[in-house]
Amino acid sequence: MNGGRILALSGGVGGAKLADGLMHACPGGRLTLVVNTGDDFNHLGLHISPDIDTALYTLSGFSNPQTGWGRRDETWSFMQALEQLGGDTWFRLGDADLALHVERTHRLAAGASLSEITAEFGTRLGISAQILPMSDDPVRTRVSTDMGELDFQHYFVREQCRPQVRRIEFSGAETARPAPGVVRALQNGDLDAIILCPSNPYLSIAPILAVTGMRALLRAAGVPVIAVSPLVGGQAVKGPTTKIMNELGLSVSALQIVQDYAGLIDGFVLDSRDAQLRDQIDLPVAIVDTLMHSPLDRQRVAQQTLAFATTLRA
Ligand code: GDP
Repeated sequence: MNGGRILALSGGVGGAKLADGLMHACPGGRLTLVVNTGDDFNHLGLHISPDIDTALYTLSGFSNPQTGWGRRDETWSFMQALEQLGGDTWFRLGDADLALHVERTHRLAAGASLSEITAEFGTRLGISAQILPMSDDPVRTRVSTDMGELDFQHYFVREQCRPQVRRIEFSGAETARPAPGVVRALQNGDLDAIILCPSNPYLSIAPILAVTGMRALLRAAGVPVIAVSPLVGGQAVKGPTTKIMNELGLSVSALQIVQDYAGLIDGFVLDSRDAQLRDQIDLPVAIVDTLMHSPLDRQRVAQQTLAFATTLRA
């Protein structure tokens, strides 16, 4: 690349892995990560931002590789005491993790914005990338299912994605504005590329794109927009992506993902296990082994994605 900035859109675990690789490939604070906040919710009086927390923990090296959420080396005294008192325990909050939610909630109540709080936490955790919520305004993902309409965390965590999805809505998106830092990053002349991380297109990337004006801002940046496939060999690595595709009557294939992002992306990173689909994609395609088990995998996928972006700038 030209040594300019990279802006990436991400949800939780799948997106944060590539974001971690991109941060290492773009040192000196050249990565701006725009994170889904449609999963945010209020629980036990706390403001919880699960995807921002996953980004903070993954990029600072504090993430828990076993669970895929929360912090490593966590203890659970709070949950045990809460259970004893008859409190809600379906959403697990570790002792150290709890500090993040308490401090965020406290600062929000004192008038700070989610952007300001996230920036400060990122700095304090030693993260060189700039992590931004998609919006400082509330957007809440709601899932219509065969069990009725569910708040996102009720669907995702309490019911463990078992209900059949009929429709997904992003309440508040029609009035929410992109966070000020997102607008600045997209209007900054030294942006080189925009990357859609391999996050769930329907639950993680769609809410970001639903924020009023976001799509237009992304296109107006005038740099290549590239999506990295969240499907590997036609399957999700983790989570309900393909289950939701089935339930929404979509074809379960990387081709569907290309179609979902039509009009927004200029190039697509297709996993090498799906290489046979290449000729059916009407856009520039890079074939990459996108499975990220290790930190080195993350950096390799990031570098290959950025090299592909360079070819699209030429
Ligand atoms: P969530 O918010 O925690 O569900 O996470 P995301 O939405 O960010 O990511 C879920 C998606 O990440 C799923 O579709 C997975 O298939 C995808 N994913 C997870 N790990 C990998 C990986 O190593 N490579 C690729 N290409 N996709 C991945």
